[in-house]
Amino acid sequence: MRVSHPLDDLSPASVLVAAGRPARVPGASVNPPVDFTSTYAAPSTGVGYGRNGNAVWTAFEEALGHLEGGDALVFGSGMAAISAVLALVPPGGVVVTPRHAYNLTNVLLEDYAKAGYEVRHVDISDTAEVLAALEGADLVWTESPTNPMLEVADLRAIFTAAREQGVLSVCDNTLSTPLLQQPLELGADVVVHSVTKYLAGHSDVVLGATVTATRGQGPELLARLTRHRTMHGAIAGPMEVWLALRGLRTLHLRVERAAANAAELARRLADHPALERVRYPGTGAMVAIEVRGGADAADRVAADCRLWLDATSLGGVESLIERRRKYAAEATTVPENLLRLSVGIEDVDDLWRDLDRALRG
Ligand code: PLP
Repeated sequence: MRVSHPLDDLSPASVLVAAGRPARVPGASVNPPVDFTSTYAAPSTGVGYGRNGNAVWTAFEEALGHLEGGDALVFGSGMAAISAVLALVPPGGVVVTPRHAYNLTNVLLEDYAKAGYEVRHVDISDTAEVLAALEGADLVWTESPTNPMLEVADLRAIFTAAREQGVLSVCDNTLSTPLLQQPLELGADVVVHSVTKYLAGHSDVVLGATVTATRGQGPELLARLTRHRTMHGAIAGPMEVWLALRGLRTLHLRVERAAANAAELARRLADHPALERVRYPGTGAMVAIEVRGGADAADRVAADCRLWLDATSLGGVESLIERRRKYAAEATTVPENLLRLSVGIEDVDDLWRDLDRALRG
């Protein structure tokens, strides 16, 4: 048998391409097969039943685990992964969360609050406020940058303090991807992804993932999250995971291009007369703009774009524009006139001309 290159010796771009391939036996396929089966003939040598595992999950998990530096588990959606992680909090426990976390994370935490848990909302970019809120907490949720306000957190300081106080630390790394930020290396216990976004990258699947550290309580967390996935049936379909793995192969190229486009657009938008403010964290492919004239003006801009698509979600190859406050669940501290831009991989001049024309009405 010809042996594959060890992934540990490879840079992320090579891991993205090489991970999760079938063993190099003569005649082997280059891509993992998709097993469309719910059950397996006895005596079972593998997972035995479709809720327990699938060869293509393992392939995807190998790739994502290597990129984040931990053990990955794929879930049926980002929300399924988030739900699994929040279920780690003991009954009646205390959760610290960014005021501007992904809105449904905080909606789910409202349910926890109603069930007797304590939920503390913080400005995640105010490190002193976050550290003060850790007292007596069970879990600290982080996003950096936040969605859609694009605030940046001092993750290392937060994770270090959380470790010292025995607080479980979690990072939703969806917006940054493991190419731009590796929270486990910064000290987090668990990473969460909406795989739907950059990792899959083509707006054709809904999937999620967790990644746990290999150190400390990581293996125990992995076992608990695996059990949650099985017992709650929060599993992914094999075809979706195969598509996500195919998308993952080009993550480095997509992120590089989208981030370069975002940086250039943020530069050109900075002194645009139609804008009150541009939010750009200096990295990644998300930009937020605040349009003069309030919600109606912002809605008009989104509707007038022809290349940018007015649609929810982010992280796909195509550029999306959306006014977030049109959703009742969005935090009321997000400005009404804020448009979230998920910058794609199109030609930057085409993106600029379309947006500039819509902004000028
Ligand atoms: N986390 C972030 C940062 C998101 O933007 C989203 C979705 O928009 C989610 C989690 C939820 O993921 P999913 O839509 O895959 O359930």
